[in-house]
Amino acid sequence: MSNIIAIVGRPNVGKSTLFNRLTESNQAIVKEVSGVTRDRIYGRGEWNGIPFSVIDTGGYVKGSDDIFEGEIRKQVEIAIDEANVIVFVVDVMTGITDLDEKVAGMLRKSKKKVFIAANKVDNTERIGLSSEFYSFGFGEIFDISAVNGSGTGELLDELVQHF
Ligand code: GDP
Ligand code: MG
Repeated sequence: MSNIIAIVGRPNVGKSTLFNRLTESNQAIVKEVSGVTRDRIYGRGEWNGIPFSVIDTGGYVKGSDDIFEGEIRKQVEIAIDEANVIVFVVDVMTGITDLDEKVAGMLRKSKKKVFIAANKVDNTERIGLSSEFYSFGFGEIFDISAVNGSGTGELLDELVQHF
């Protein structure tokens, strides 16, 4: 398998909203794969004639004392394993959190190409809020709004070059 995009990040950053947008005309073939701690959703999309699969992780993260060790770590491991490229979603409205740092630490150790999608940049006033995420060291940051779709085309333009 190739052309696989995995969407990772802590809860509530907008991973599933981005997943829905990337797979929007392909909902019919979204498939859920369940396991005790390995739940994830697969979907398909296409960009400029290039087909791809998308993995949405984190659908079943429950509140607990240590959701990183409990759930997020396993899901990020799966993403690193299965994907060709990883989209690390962060939230410009909350900024960097402890969980973001932990996810970044895992991704940094992987050999996969990682792109940061700084989500919830819904309007021009929020441009610039994402600059703090450069400190993670993954290079270019893609400002997006998963809700209104802005920036997702530029992100896809880049992703499809790294399959
Ligand atoms: P996940 O837990 O990472 O999968 O996040 P969800 O996709 O479930 O989204 C979490 C919350 O953030 C929901 O209330 C979404 O409507 C909201 N959300 C997602 N994307 C955006 C966005 O681009 N802008 C804004 N303002 N809210 C968003
Ligand atoms: Mg989700």
